[in-house]
Amino acid sequence: MSFLLANTLSGEKEEVFAANGKQLGIYCCGPTVYGPAHIGNFRTFIIQDIFRRVTELSGISVKHVRNITDVDDKTIRQSQAEGRSLEEFTQQWRTKFEEDSDALGLLMPHEAPSAVAHLPEQIQMIKELEAKGLAYQAEDKSVYFRISAFEGYGKLSRIDQRELKLGASKSANASDEYDKESIADFVLWKAWKEEDGENGWDSPWGRGRPGWHLECSAMSQKYLGDSFDMHSGGVDLIFPHHENEIAQSEGATGKPFVRHWLHVAHLMVDGGKMSKSLGNLYTIEDLIQKGFSAGEVRYVLASGHYRKQLNFTFDTLHSARQALGKLSSFSERLESLSGKPLPAYEELCKMDSPDLGVFEPAWNALLDDLNTAECLGKVFVGMRKAEAELGKEQSPESARAYQIGLSWVIHSLGIILPEKAEVAEIPEEIQGLAKQRWEAKLSKDWGKSDELRDALAERGWQVKDAKDSYEIRPIS
Ligand code: AMP
Ligand code: ZN
Repeated sequence: MSFLLANTLSGEKEEVFAANGKQLGIYCCGPTVYGPAHIGNFRTFIIQDIFRRVTELSGISVKHVRNITDVDDKTIRQSQAEGRSLEEFTQQWRTKFEEDSDALGLLMPHEAPSAVAHLPEQIQMIKELEAKGLAYQAEDKSVYFRISAFEGYGKLSRIDQRELKLGASKSANASDEYDKESIADFVLWKAWKEEDGENGWDSPWGRGRPGWHLECSAMSQKYLGDSFDMHSGGVDLIFPHHENEIAQSEGATGKPFVRHWLHVAHLMVDGGKMSKSLGNLYTIEDLIQKGFSAGEVRYVLASGHYRKQLNFTFDTLHSARQALGKLSSFSERLESLSGKPLPAYEELCKMDSPDLGVFEPAWNALLDDLNTAECLGKVFVGMRKAEAELGKEQSPESARAYQIGLSWVIHSLGIILPEKAEVAEIPEEIQGLAKQRWEAKLSKDWGKSDELRDALAERGWQVKDAKDSYEIRPIS
């Protein structure tokens, strides 16, 4: 089965493939490092991570580039407010982002270029645009992209010229860019102003700094070439950021920029937009301080289909804890039966399409537009089937086969199973009694099954039976 994914550019589901037949290049717009990333940002980074895992497990090698935005209004203003150099300030938040990413089990990108470290490439791109009549320096000394000279502006967001003018004139009141030829033109090089302090770099157009959109065009070209396979970000980046990237890159090279665009819908909190003023903007650290694990946060953020908004509540974190506990107990059972740990991600990447058995439908859900929600549902269906089979017949070989199927989907989603100590603590004796009772029930030995149920109750535990499995719970 091939891997299909919706493409924002065409509006259709298209096959994921590497155009050069060797390696798929993906560029993900990275964090602006002026504070800790919030869980909404991480929803997008986790979906991109799952995309990479599914692609790699499908047998396609990936080159993953994700930039670090370390110069813009927010980073400059905040570093100044704290009386620190831009470099020292952004480095602190870059490190924090890397620590959070690691805790959430994100695979490290192969390249993580910083905008400040790539000023020559950005200046070079402006020169090329200027030479083609696509960039001009205005009276305010800033350099702008001439949208009227670029055919095809708006093809990603399907924004027409009329909407563009309306939108631009609304935002013009909030900006001071009055010297542009057209209100819709966007800045490529921002001329230095007094309030920028020491944050300015020399260029052919005078002291200043690059506009935000430019860094992604220049750095993606450097690490992935003029044309590459995939580009991704949250839906808020479709317009104007990605539209402007297309204009800059295609304007400069004259070649198609990106074939396939992957955009992630936003994370909402308690049904609304996250915002600092509402007190519902959470970072990973906030949630860890409230007693949740990064693995539980990842589970919630991975659990919704990426094209639908996902609503985050504390209930979703509690459900994630339960779900992870079940997966972990099942995985431990398989481990003790097979005598081997779950295979690692790297080990799976070397396998050539193994038989996933009862977990095949969960994997197929990912291959059909990265449907993580359906995948998780199917993982539990697969698990119940496997438990029922193991209730009838157990062998190290069958347990190993289930381990391969289970680990394949677990690693696709990057699920972090809790350590043994973190799993809802069910004493071994209780687990043993519950297992014997289940087996007695399967063999229709009702007397024994009732006896064991009573023995569990005396110890403060109850079992709840589902169609093909059971759950052990303390009697409350
Ligand atoms: P930023 O650090 O603001 O540049 O954002 C980093 C990434 O997070 C971008 O891809 C954004 O589109 C994405 N993003 C921002 N807010 C949300 C949200 N609430 N839900 C999902 N993704 C988001
Ligand atoms: Zn970008």
